[in-house]
Amino acid sequence: MAMTIKQLTDIILNQAEEKGFGTKPEDINVMEKIALIHSEISEAMEAYRYKNIDGKDGLAEELADAIIRILHLAGVYNINIEKEVLKKIEFNENREWDWDKMNEIHNTQ
Ligand SMILES: [Mg+2]
Repeated sequence: MAMTIKQLTDIILNQAEEKGFGTKPEDINVMEKIALIHSEISEAMEAYRYKNIDGKDGLAEELADAIIRILHLAGVYNINIEKEVLKKIEFNENREWDWDKMNEIHNTQ
């Protein structure tokens, strides 16, 4: 079942409308939505710590929760997240990372 990110976002927005989670900027509290994205990422970390990769509340499920919340927020703001992701991938293609400096920072903490 291949789908574009836009199609996934539309499904998520339809469900948000049905469940009363909001589909327009004035319907939602953006700070709360961002905090909820954080909480799903924290749940993903906890799942990984307990080596729960694909079980109930496992890493896979929590990453899916985070993506659903991110796509909901992007959809509410009509952000073309597919375009934004591709733009960042292209930017990162030519981006240089100073690994020596990064290792230096890690080793002094
Ligand atoms: Mg969760």
